[in-house]
Amino acid sequence: MNPSSLCKVCKKQDAVLPEGGGAPRFCTKCWDTRLRQLFKEEDRFRIQRVMRTAEAEKYFIYHDDFEGGATAVAVAFALNDRAHDALEVSAFLAGKFNWHESVPFLYEEGVECEVEMMDVLLGIIENELVAGWRPCHWTAEITVATDEIFWIDSRDRESEDKDEADDKA
Ligand SMILES: [Zn+2]
Repeated sequence: MNPSSLCKVCKKQDAVLPEGGGAPRFCTKCWDTRLRQLFKEEDRFRIQRVMRTAEAEKYFIYHDDFEGGATAVAVAFALNDRAHDALEVSAFLAGKFNWHESVPFLYEEGVECEVEMMDVLLGIIENELVAGWRPCHWTAEITVATDEIFWIDSRDRESEDKDEADDKA
């Protein structure tokens, strides 16, 4: 039997799940007992792109456990340096969310372990945010905000520059 078609966890039964999207990795028994739940750790994060330009994007990241997914647990920015084919990611994490909570997690290779919520987030950043840019290199700077994140919502700017320009004209 081809070993690649065996379940990655028990390594005995044929791998038939998940269906679609690449080769199946798990047998129905392992999938039903444990893995379905483990997979959800990553699914409980949701990344939403809120702004996009040719060189940069801004994202809000939500988690189901944080205020019912209504408020972002993180905001991230990606800046693309085309000259060096490099992507710089900056992410600011809400300190109110428990990033050090240990959660069960399953890697694509079928390896199970306990990881911190922070590691799950970093996986999301790498697999969903960075992968979309396909950069040659990437770096990330992660800051946990200990105080409330302070926002100025859409505010019109008095255009002093324009007035000065008018004065000169
Ligand atoms: Zn199995």
